[in-house]
This record gives sequence, structure tokens and C-alpha cells, in this order.
Amino acid sequence: AKQVARGDFRFFKPEANERAHRWLALEGRLRRALEQETLHLVFQPLVDARTLRPTGFETLLRWTLEEHGPVSPGEFIPMAEETGLIIPMGEWVLRKACQQAARWRAQTGHCYRMAVNVSPIQITGSDFVATVRTSLRRTGLPAECLELEITERMLLGGQRRVLQSLQALRDLGVGLSLDDFGTGYSALSYLRQMPFSVLKIDRSFVQGAAAGPRGEQLLCSIIGMAQGLGLRVVAEGVETEAQVALLQREGCDLLQGYHFARPMAAEAVTRLLQGPERP
Ligand code: C2E
Ligand code: CA
Ligand code: CA
Ligand code: CA
Repeated sequence: AKQVARGDFRFFKPEANERAHRWLALEGRLRRALEQETLHLVFQPLVDARTLRPTGFETLLRWTLEEHGPVSPGEFIPMAEETGLIIPMGEWVLRKACQQAARWRAQTGHCYRMAVNVSPIQITGSDFVATVRTSLRRTGLPAECLELEITERMLLGGQRRVLQSLQALRDLGVGLSLDDFGTGYSALSYLRQMPFSVLKIDRSFVQGAAAGPRGEQLLCSIIGMAQGLGLRVVAEGVETEAQVALLQREGCDLLQGYHFARPMAAEAVTRLLQGPERP
């Protein structure tokens, strides 16, 4: 078998005449992976900036091909979005994440917030509010323990249906995070229109703070603005002690990144939550 490194984009961008064929083959494999449940989830802690203890986890989807190894979600999620597979796949992720959160809640008596990534296509292409309600009811997870992350990179501005769905989700008690803040074009108008409760600052701004005073000022301004709007602020991609110190000083609420933990298997989180250093 051909050796293809993880994240190698050539894998998905072969010669033009092969591309459609390969795409279809991969789509079929992704569909079967979903049916056979060979996709799996990992969880990355979000820590309280003051105590540095986990208060929640972000659910991240993983797909591994036998002969190629892991395929990056940055590659297969867009494919799932283009083919519509994201709808059943997203429902599967949501159900599994709620099940897992309910299990941790039963084990610890504590409501860790479970964050789940949602593609705007799920919101426009299905009765997403009903899907969320069903997942919560079937798993017994309180709505307050669930947070949905919606990336600002995808177009959802001004769509009445999206706005109505998001409002219905907030009415259920589910949290809504604006993901990858700063990387899209219309973030500020989203903040005016949409009922977000959390703002996740993209890691490029966290890492840009080290590049000079302007980078640092920009990061601080984003935190100040979010707090002025009454949003909780999460910094993504925190990798260094210096970033932790800056974010703590600026009053950022939650921190996420390799400095604290990589995304982990559910069993590893369970051990973390039950260990002597139990949060
Ligand atoms: P995202 O939502 O921004 O997720 C955070 C990504 O940053 C994850 O990449 C995570 O592993 C990575 N990350 C976390 N901490 C650090 C750090 O300190 N440094 C660096 N350099 N990276 C860090 P991952 O798992 O490869 O996911 C990529 C994207 O794929 C996600 O970006 C999200 O947009 C999408 N994705 C993943 N799972 C799902 C899913 O279940 N549904 C949907 N719709 N999208 C998903
Ligand atoms: Ca996310
Ligand atoms: Ca993000
Ligand atoms: Ca990102």
C-alpha cells in the first residue's frame, strides 16, 4: 500500500481525473465507518483559568483508515458536509457525546460541560432542535451540561431559520459557543444577532500574542469585548506557560490546549476524573 502521511492533502487531491473517483470511494468508506461505528471520539479538557482544573471537554471526531492511519477531521469533515453525510454523522457524535457526559456525571456527581462541534449544515438541513432534544432525553443529560460549538467560518449570518433554531436551543438550556472567533468575516454581526453564550478565541490569536505588542493588544481587546457582551471566553490552542499567565491576567475564563492536555480517549478522561488529583 502507498504510504501517505497523516494530514497529507495529496491524499484527497489526486490528479484531477482521479479525483471524483477517489472521492466517491472515500465517501463510501466514510459511510460504512459510520454504519459500523469504526469512527471514534476523543475528548480535550477545558480548564478553569483560575483553578486550572477541568470544567468540561470538547468532543473531537476521529477516523482511522487501516492502510493510511488517521485521517484529519480537517479533511473528512468538509467531505461529509459536501455529501450530506454530516447529518447522520453529527447525530451519532451528539448521541455518543451526551451518553459519555451522562456517564461522567453519574460517576462523579458533577456536571462537566460537554462541547460538541456542529456544522451549520446540520442546523439548516435537518430538524436539529428535535435531534438535540432527543439526545438529551434518551441519555438523561441536563441541557446545561451540553454546549454546541458553531464555527464562524461557515456562512450562517442572517438566516432566519438558523437564528430560530439557535434561539430554540438556548430556550432548552443548551449553551452555544462561537468557535474559531476571529477567522471569519462576519463574526461581529453574528455576536449582535445570535444568542451565543461562549466565545472561543481561535488559537491564531493566542499564539499571535507572542509575536509582538499588537498581537497581545488584539488578544486582550477580544477578551475585553467578549466580557463586555457578557460572554464566557475560552482561549484555544494554549501551548505555553507564558500564554497561560497572560490569559489569566486578562481574565479569560477557560483555557484549552496542548499545555494542559491533548485530546484523550474516554477511558483516560474517566481515570483523570477518578484519580487522586480529582477536580
Ligand atoms: P476545532 O473545533 O477548532 O477543534 C480544535 C482543534 O485544535 C482540534 O483539532 C484539536 O486537536 C486542536 N488543538 C487543541 N489544542 C491545541 C493546541 O494547543 N495546539 C494546536 N496546534 N492544536 C490544538 P482536530 O481534532 O484535528 O479538529 C479539527 C477541526 O475539525 C475542529 O476544529 C472542528 O472544526 C472539526 N471537527 C472535529 N470533530 C468534529 C465533529 O464531530 N463535528 C464537526 N462538525 N466538526 C468537527
Ligand atoms: Ca470546536
Ligand atoms: Ca476552534
Ligand atoms: Ca480551529
